[in-house]
Amino acid sequence: MKKEFANVIVDISHEKVDRPFGYRIPERLADSVTPGVRVKIPFGAGNALRTGYVIEVTDHSEFPRERMKEIDSVLPGTKEPSQRLIVLAAWMKQQYGSTMIQALKTVLPARATVGEKERKSIELLLQDAQAQELAAQMERRHQTARLRLLQELMTNRTISWEAATKRLKVPSSVISKLESDGVLKVHASVAYRNPIRRMGEETEKKTLSEEQQGAVNGILNAFDQNDRRPSLIHGITGSGKTEVYLALIEGMIKRGRQSIVLIPEIALTYQTVQRFTARFGDRVSVMNSTLSVGEKQDQCRRAERGELDVIIGPRSALFVPFPNLGMILMDEEHELSYKSETSPKYHARETAQKLAELSDATLVLGSATPSLEAYSRAQRGDYHFYKLTKRLTGGSLPRVEIADLREELRNGNRSIFSVSLQEKLRDRLARKEQSMLFLNRRGYAGFVSCRACGYVCKCPHCDVSLSEHRGGRLVCHYCGYEQPAVKLCPSCGSKYILGFRAGTEAMEEQLHKMFPQARVLRMDADTTRTRESYEKILAAFARGDADILVGTQMIVKGHDFPAVTLVGVLAADLSLSMSDYRAGERTFQLLTQAAGRAGRGSRPGEVVIQTYQPDHYSIQYAARQDYEGFYQEELTYRQLLSYPPASHILAVQFYSKKQEEALAGAQEAASYVRQVTQSRQFTQQMSGTVQIPTPAAAHNAASAALPDTIVIGPAPALIGKINDVYRYGIYLKNHDYEKLVELKDGIEQMRSLPQRQKALCQFDFDPVHS
Ligand code: ADP
Ligand code: ZN
Ligand code: ZN
Repeated sequence: MKKEFANVIVDISHEKVDRPFGYRIPERLADSVTPGVRVKIPFGAGNALRTGYVIEVTDHSEFPRERMKEIDSVLPGTKEPSQRLIVLAAWMKQQYGSTMIQALKTVLPARATVGEKERKSIELLLQDAQAQELAAQMERRHQTARLRLLQELMTNRTISWEAATKRLKVPSSVISKLESDGVLKVHASVAYRNPIRRMGEETEKKTLSEEQQGAVNGILNAFDQNDRRPSLIHGITGSGKTEVYLALIEGMIKRGRQSIVLIPEIALTYQTVQRFTARFGDRVSVMNSTLSVGEKQDQCRRAERGELDVIIGPRSALFVPFPNLGMILMDEEHELSYKSETSPKYHARETAQKLAELSDATLVLGSATPSLEAYSRAQRGDYHFYKLTKRLTGGSLPRVEIADLREELRNGNRSIFSVSLQEKLRDRLARKEQSMLFLNRRGYAGFVSCRACGYVCKCPHCDVSLSEHRGGRLVCHYCGYEQPAVKLCPSCGSKYILGFRAGTEAMEEQLHKMFPQARVLRMDADTTRTRESYEKILAAFARGDADILVGTQMIVKGHDFPAVTLVGVLAADLSLSMSDYRAGERTFQLLTQAAGRAGRGSRPGEVVIQTYQPDHYSIQYAARQDYEGFYQEELTYRQLLSYPPASHILAVQFYSKKQEEALAGAQEAASYVRQVTQSRQFTQQMSGTVQIPTPAAAHNAASAALPDTIVIGPAPALIGKINDVYRYGIYLKNHDYEKLVELKDGIEQMRSLPQRQKALCQFDFDPVHS
């Protein structure tokens, strides 16, 4: 049966129209109205014809069909990238829960308000003989406008856009036609701001190993056979994933297709871009938050005009409008930064898959420690799977040693460095090899607490503990609030109120005391406020200007420093104390990545993991570099407790300056969901504010009643208050993502009725807490 109705987003520049409108599809347009096409539709009281974008074609409608208006016509040029992005936005709104405008703003590059001073020029691409032949043909066909233009170009090779359109009166459509026929090329002679200086010299292209070549061939062959299933490349650290990416992009370029390369954070840009520009020159660009608005726009234009083959950036680089996108490559696919923290709270992995589908492109994921989500899909055959098991630099995986900090303390070692790590550091300094020390926290120390009564210094505006910085100042990392050091406990008056954990600054100080001759560099959020500072520190370390690089997790990922033979992880278990079901996975990933920094050159590497929980399975599997073992154990735990990827979670959060209002919003939604799902009421008794559903509680609910949907809450959010805004949430779990989407729709509808609670409501599917 033909689908009769189309949902259309009208006039996207108009922010008030925040929903699709239903239209009837007339018989004559039945074949041409598909999602993504632009249409003319009667809209508003006067039924003036407006432009709209079809986002969905369906066979049911809530309105009587006689009262619905009809689509007037379909506009040409349907599969343009910006239209694809609109379809993507509609999908994101639906999948992740946001307003249409929020979704559109996420995907559409900021439109220029000030027009660029554009001076386009037109260049003839044909040889004289070819041009003469073509001119004769045009003359025979009486294509007078074309002929005028061609003759002008035969005398001048390059002419201005204005000369062609104004003086010669050649319509721009004719110019584009000739351009697509390969007769001429339109140059945007505007000087684009290019955010990257060409970095790095040409590096010799490496002969790929058998494993690498296997992955490249597999992916490109599947692509050529129109198999668009995503691929996962599981390659141990140093196994040459980046080389594979380069070869894949080259394959895409040969096929006339562009590639988007997603990387998890700006800190990684420097090295990645260096390797990509070395191979592809200035047909590579970057997109990230350090670019100015103008620079961002320029990159989008360069992409649209086909002047770029590759764009590199964090998740937002997905929305660079390439005319012929062939591949989206997601490096370090497991990283939490791929999830957006603002509405729509999308995950780049699924969004990339949708975009790939809309663009007839393929999605390639790469990681040394794949997320449970991706790995389980690969195991089920939903993804192609490629494995890179060998280090290609001659070195093998490093030897890992676990230092039990409880034992160190018993033996009277009060330093933040275990005896073994101290010895190894001394040894590296003597041998002039480099070391990296990694700590899971920034700042001089973590939170400040009273050893006598347990009081913790907190921000008065946010429900988080303050961090102690050098000189004792206490700083809130959420709102920037600062206060001087506390000498006496405000609660009991004890003077034993102290910074709790050593941070990167303290580590640096200790190193200076212990090894006065050592040259130490520190890299954390405080030393890398600008794009340049990242690059400077990394480049200095790569040049060998320092013996030891000290830093937070930003130093453990992706970087390739062949002279590093020792890696120390100082507080392996800090990430285990997160109140998140992903804590074990996160710890395993961080440790594996950190260990992977050692021994990438010809000399073997060593790793020391310092921990208070040497028996924890995440730490054990990481020390053995046993991904498969970790994966099996972790997946069992997720299945048992209905956590992703075994199940899905929808967090519905309510925000208000008034505590009662936020709570009432959450209560209303909770009772609505309980009513529609008939789920067993189940309240969580918890002291304090930690509120991610606890494993035990969720388990009880699942096994006791086996309701379709598990409903938890309302409860105050993980951080109950930020910037004086209170936050309450409810949590819904179901193994079927689509059921949760339905519940989200239901809550939205329920809230749109009059007399409903006023608190702001946001949806978050499979939330992550970094
Ligand atoms: P990954 O991204 O998997 O950590 P890289 O792509 O950074 O690995 O490669 C690690 C090292 O191995 C780099 O120094 C790279 O130049 C080198 N390498 C990669 N592929 C090859 C190859 N086929 N032959 C020789 N060396 C290679
Ligand atoms: Zn106290
Ligand atoms: Zn604060």
